[in-house]
Amino acid sequence: MSDGPNQARMEVRLIDYARSPLEKLYAAFRTCYSADSPIEIWQKIEAEKISREKIREFIGERLKTGHASPLEQVVFWFAISGVSRSLSHQFVRHRIGISFEQQSQRYVRFKQDQLAFVMPESWSRAQLDQEFAGLLGQISELYARALKAGIPAEDARFILPNAAPTNFHVMVNFAEMLHICDLRLCVRAQWEIRRMVALMRAEIKRVLPEIALFLQPKCGENRMGYCDESRADWEKCPLGRVRPHKADLFAMYQQYGRRKAEPLGEAEFKAVEDQEQL
Ligand SMILES: Cc1cc2nc3c(=O)[nH]c(=O)nc-3n(C[C@H](O)[C@H](O)[C@H](O)COP(=O)(O)OP(=O)(O)OC[C@H]3O[C@@H](n4cnc5c(N)ncnc54)[C@H](O)[C@@H]3O)c2cc1C
Repeated sequence: MSDGPNQARMEVRLIDYARSPLEKLYAAFRTCYSADSPIEIWQKIEAEKISREKIREFIGERLKTGHASPLEQVVFWFAISGVSRSLSHQFVRHRIGISFEQQSQRYVRFKQDQLAFVMPESWSRAQLDQEFAGLLGQISELYARALKAGIPAEDARFILPNAAPTNFHVMVNFAEMLHICDLRLCVRAQWEIRRMVALMRAEIKRVLPEIALFLQPKCGENRMGYCDESRADWEKCPLGRVRPHKADLFAMYQQYGRRKAEPLGEAEFKAVEDQEQL
């Protein structure tokens, strides 16, 4: 997305995060596994009887497991602006562990002579950027006439395109941030949301590198670890050079594994049902 006249610029800022996130994660996990009460655990943390290194190590180990609910106790707030309505349609599909406030096209009457917009670079590459800007110019003019004619903003907005920029104030917990990165840092995600989530990750990394370590696309070594998209997409992906495809892992497992991978039949369900504690 290049910056030109009337082109909105994407901005992402981490406004705040819940205090002592690493300690909160540690105490939340520890509460599950310790005979100490949470108050005692916090007393030890506050008395610095548990080193930051130990906290980091413990959290790292826990993050390798499926015990994910403590991650919901760490929260981030972001201010995001200059993203398109195409992006916002996708972003608000995330519904668990995230809260959005978005600039309203009902309450805000956009007053610029020429409305701002987000234009993908592909339009410039195809040398159709002038036409794109021209159409946006016509829309701006008609939108202004509509407001002047007394059409309420909530009705005038019906002619605004997906290119119209919007702003968000977002609260998201760490568990959901991991999930969003799994999906939206993957090259299968659309470029604009991918770019925005990359900026969110960079913002967290600036202040909490220990936590940002886990914010990866799902194929990352700290997440699922392999690509489960189609082989054709994996072959085209720049990460395909460094992360394996699921089908190859299974092929290797079948060839070299000490056990076999077979479909689960009723006998296997029964075995799980009858299994005592591991
Ligand atoms: C590459 C890509 C292409 C896409 N293409 C399309 C498309 O063509 N059309 C379209 O409509 N959408 C599309 N989407 C959006 C997608 O379908 C989801 O709406 C989006 O990823 C957010 O959903 P989520 O389940 O991840 O929600 P989140 O709220 O982020 O989910 C968080 C977690 O909670 C779980 N969860 C959430 N709600 C429930 C529930 N009710 N019951 C049980 N578990 C739940 C989720 O499975 C997930 O583990 C696409 C997304 C991606 C990444």
